[in-house]
Amino acid sequence: MSKCLKCQKELTGNEIGLTKKLINRGSTEFYCINCLAQKFDCDVPLLEKKIEQFKKQGCTLFA
Ligand SMILES: [Zn+2]
Repeated sequence: MSKCLKCQKELTGNEIGLTKKLINRGSTEFYCINCLAQKFDCDVPLLEKKIEQFKKQGCTLFA
């Protein structure tokens, strides 16, 4: 199980997918949605919407 690089929270597949999408597709270090929101200075609900968008686009990074 992967953990957030910053806060050590256990990550969901969505969070791993989102890190890859936002930072680097080949990334092996991942962040939870809260830390991603802080990093990009945006809201968690906005990122959740992004995940839904990416899923609808058929992005394979999201399970
Ligand atoms: Zn975190």
